[in-house]
Amino acid sequence: MSAQILDGKLLAAQLREQVAAKVSALRASGKRAPGLAVVLVGGDPASQVYVGMKEKMTEAVGMHSVAHRLPETTSEQELLAVVAALNADPAVDGILVQLPLPAHLNSELIINTIDPAKDVDGFHPVNVGRLSAGLPALVPCTPRGCIMLAKLARADLSGLHAVVVGRSNIVGKPVAQLLLQENCTVTIAHSRTRDLPALCRTADLLVAAIGRPKYLGAQHVKPGAIVIDVGINRITTAEGSSKLVGDVDYDAAAEVAGAITPVPGGVGPMTIACLLDNTLTAYERRAE
Ligand code: NDP
Repeated sequence: MSAQILDGKLLAAQLREQVAAKVSALRASGKRAPGLAVVLVGGDPASQVYVGMKEKMTEAVGMHSVAHRLPETTSEQELLAVVAALNADPAVDGILVQLPLPAHLNSELIINTIDPAKDVDGFHPVNVGRLSAGLPALVPCTPRGCIMLAKLARADLSGLHAVVVGRSNIVGKPVAQLLLQENCTVTIAHSRTRDLPALCRTADLLVAAIGRPKYLGAQHVKPGAIVIDVGINRITTAEGSSKLVGDVDYDAAAEVAGAITPVPGGVGPMTIACLLDNTLTAYERRAE
């Protein structure tokens, strides 16, 4: 079977174009541009790359971009003061504090200090609670991207059995909530789940958010299933070069699946596109 490849690069570009068109219409009607602030503490190389990409794409869709690059030695009080200033800044609609933070900073405290109306990452307990209660919320970006990609394979996910492997607060749990909203029957699996291959083979829609390279293979995939691979793992190949792979063994799973996301080029690009879309949503809700 040759699986449909769910192209996140293309879908993300389309979503960014839609956001750019809406921002352009706002500007043309004399309104201010939506603003996104990103706060980076320390010099983690991967985080620096992400923040640079976020800034570039925020500007590319015509939004106002604010970046705070703070030294590793920043104290909790200093960081809380930056967040408080962004909460109070009327030109800022979305605030993202890049995780992970250095060990001396309490991430939970910092995230809980962001105004929920500006929490475009969707990690504040108010947004987490609203999502689980089925109320309008700012929804975490990567999980939103997963649903949009699954809908490329099948517009109506209603009635499907979805198995989500991984129960983190940033991916597994919110993906499960969103799938429930799509009327899927949802099972959440984790490291203590018994007979994972047999469970996964009951899934019409399989979401892998584990953080283990190529952990799920053909034996985990029901023929024709939709496979969404959230994993981003850097491995060293036999030739000694470095490459990114997902939590799914793509070549093996694609033989069995009906549709599958590649890594890279699947879920990854959707995250920043959804972040920009969330910023627009936050802007619109604040303007109401
Ligand atoms: P976490 O480490 O927070 O969570 C991993 C989850 O996988 C846990 O619930 C864990 O179970 C479960 N797990 C680990 N090993 C197994 C196993 N052998 N069998 C079944 N379940 C297992 O990871 P995240 O949710 O933050 O990230 C998951 C992956 O997604 C990573 O590769 C990460 O890089 C990627 N990611 C990609 C993003 C993107 O933009 N595309 C954004 C965020 C993450 P337990 O709870 O029992 O320990």
